[in-house]
Amino acid sequence: MHRAEEIVQVVPLLGVRRLERRAFDYRVPAAERGHVVVGSVVWIPFRRREVRGVVVAVGASGEVVSEKALSLRRVTPEVIPADMVRLAERLSAEYLAPLGACLQAVAPPVTRRERRGAEERVVRWMTPVAAAPPGVRLTAKQEAVLAAVPPEGAPLAEICRRAGVSRTVVAALVEKGLLERGQAHAAAGPSVSAGWVPPAAAAGDGPRLPVLNEEQRRAVRTLQAALAASGPQRVLLWGVTGSGKTEVYVRLLETVVAGGGSALVLVPEIALTVQLLTRLRLRLGDLLAVVHSGLPASLRAAEYRRIAAGEARVVVGARSAVLAPVRDLRLVVIDEAHDASYKQEEEPRYDARLVAWWRVEEAGGLLVEGTATPRVECLAETPQRVRLRTRAGEGSLPSVDVVDMRREGGGSVLAPRVRQELDRVLARGEQAILLLNRRGYAGFMRCDVCGEVLMCPRCELSLTYHRSRRGLLCHYCGYQTALPAVCPACHTGTLGRGSPGTERVVDEVRRLVPRDRLFRLDSDIVTSGARVHDVLGAFAAARPGVLVGTQMVAKGHDFPLVTLVVVADADTGLYLSDFRAGERTFQLLTQVAGRAGRADRPGRVLVQSWNPDVDCIRMAVAGEVETFYRQELELRERLGYPPYRRLVRLVLACRYEERAEAGARYLVERLQGHLAGDELRGPARLPTLRGVGRWQVLIAGRDPERGLRLAERAVHSLRVPYARRGVDLLVDVDPQWFL
Ligand code: ADP
Ligand code: ZN
Repeated sequence: MHRAEEIVQVVPLLGVRRLERRAFDYRVPAAERGHVVVGSVVWIPFRRREVRGVVVAVGASGEVVSEKALSLRRVTPEVIPADMVRLAERLSAEYLAPLGACLQAVAPPVTRRERRGAEERVVRWMTPVAAAPPGVRLTAKQEAVLAAVPPEGAPLAEICRRAGVSRTVVAALVEKGLLERGQAHAAAGPSVSAGWVPPAAAAGDGPRLPVLNEEQRRAVRTLQAALAASGPQRVLLWGVTGSGKTEVYVRLLETVVAGGGSALVLVPEIALTVQLLTRLRLRLGDLLAVVHSGLPASLRAAEYRRIAAGEARVVVGARSAVLAPVRDLRLVVIDEAHDASYKQEEEPRYDARLVAWWRVEEAGGLLVEGTATPRVECLAETPQRVRLRTRAGEGSLPSVDVVDMRREGGGSVLAPRVRQELDRVLARGEQAILLLNRRGYAGFMRCDVCGEVLMCPRCELSLTYHRSRRGLLCHYCGYQTALPAVCPACHTGTLGRGSPGTERVVDEVRRLVPRDRLFRLDSDIVTSGARVHDVLGAFAAARPGVLVGTQMVAKGHDFPLVTLVVVADADTGLYLSDFRAGERTFQLLTQVAGRAGRADRPGRVLVQSWNPDVDCIRMAVAGEVETFYRQELELRERLGYPPYRRLVRLVLACRYEERAEAGARYLVERLQGHLAGDELRGPARLPTLRGVGRWQVLIAGRDPERGLRLAERAVHSLRVPYARRGVDLLVDVDPQWFL
């Protein structure tokens, strides 16, 4: 038997759902006694492996500890702050996710150094030389490297990734005397965030702050009052595209920092946040930290420490930044709060908007959700609102017209009227953005004789034709195959292309604009944040210029020369069997329209649609925002969707589909007796993905609490028995997607 204080309870950081227990007892080695606290990150022997774990209690779980309790293998100096351990516990309880996965999400990134248990590792660091030799000729790649190195230097690996070059290109610059080799200790490391702001942005845009207009001033006053109020506050900053929300955030952040507090700023994607980052870097310097998943773990770990120590006061990042261990939190800003990326699609499947609110609830302070197109639920959750109804700068909101493809289509992707308009814009040396929310050349291929549509062999999804790869691709699982010459089903017909994608649009526009003025932005083209910059930077400099892309082109960009926005197919999202289809279409149209007419030239938006009379399209085009939201709320109430009911999605997944089905039917039986004004929808069959059959049961709880309790009942009593039969029970609380 051991004395209680020699024992700690550790949660292994594994996303294992089938663990019958959450925490396990371990002995503390003599040398570490007294040093291990709740939150300590340790390495433990676990099922014949060495894994990372977090101490959640000091003292044994029971009265008597088994003689067999193992010892901690290693105790790292890292400690997760107590409030973050509590946050992980709340995540686990409210998203019915394994505690290990939740602690993993709040833990400092694990570095290779830590994994190997080595004392030190160094990072190869490159810095620009202070006085560069004059008259050196550079290749385009070498230029790209220099542009990717900030004044204080950056890790070699990071530079290569950002510039998209190999190490030999960097080595050539060392030879030419333009870069110097150095080393930095991963742990101490020069401040990472300093290296991240893209060079193009850091160069321009001085520290001038625009004078706020009357609306912005009023917004800042209201939000500052909310900041000063006692108790947690939550305000929706509902401002039309281009209303200057960024400036409002900056003022609030300055107030918070001046008062000794800290803030979190969540953005959909760091790579698209150039303007805000530039502004903040100039005003906040070292008080700023940028949480970025593209950075090496050693540098992210260093940032984690800087944040936890209270050295960084303003933390900017995508979704996961909501879990950053900031101290003295006073403010959370969620920019473009409607964006789907705020919901994590892996365990723990948290919604950063809700987690942001928990943090503000615990710390006091203010949550600001900024957007031009709030989520419908947000209107119920955040009754306190500040509106910005006009554009801040010189621009005014663009004029929006529908192009009815039933009458004006004419066989190609772009209607004749749209092509003419594009021609005029290009002749004036201006720019256009063309949105088509489908990548590849064609969304499906169909046989012109037997009608067969080519499907992924692993997923029940059609294969997309990508001309650049000369092949077919499954957008879910990545399966690839060559395009067959004849239909593989009837061996006679040829394959015709259906549902055009971005590649096809580029093809069509090629005749109107020179190759070097035509850019594409979608996830086939850009695989990293640095690439997004390259494409957007090149487009910004091209006059005239055309940018074709998926919803990525709709996000927050501010290009003064864009005077035309074309939505090539407003109907792409309409027929998904998802109650948010209308809302998403409305948001996308409104957001992309907002990219036009940002400076002194008037903007024009042309929306091609086969269904121009559908409410979400008609109202987005007419700018009937209030009507749209009112109607959408009525519909949700009538049909029993959020915010009037809480949805929890339960998916039974198994290689043997009949087991998933049986599991779903049993689940419904089991829950039926526990309903009290709640509803079960399903069981419903879902498309097979990666060869796994799936059945879904949707809980529509009468209120948030009941929805969760029902799901909890299912998970606690059924997960382990299902697992024994090889059936996975997946839980998604507040699901955003239903595929
Ligand atoms: P939003 O995020 O609301 O869509 P932004 O913050 O991107 O809008 O601002 C749109 C444009 O207006 C930016 O170019 C910004 O610099 C400019 N802007 C913002 N506030 C002002 C102001 N008070 N006066 C002049 N220009 C402004
Ligand atoms: Zn597939």
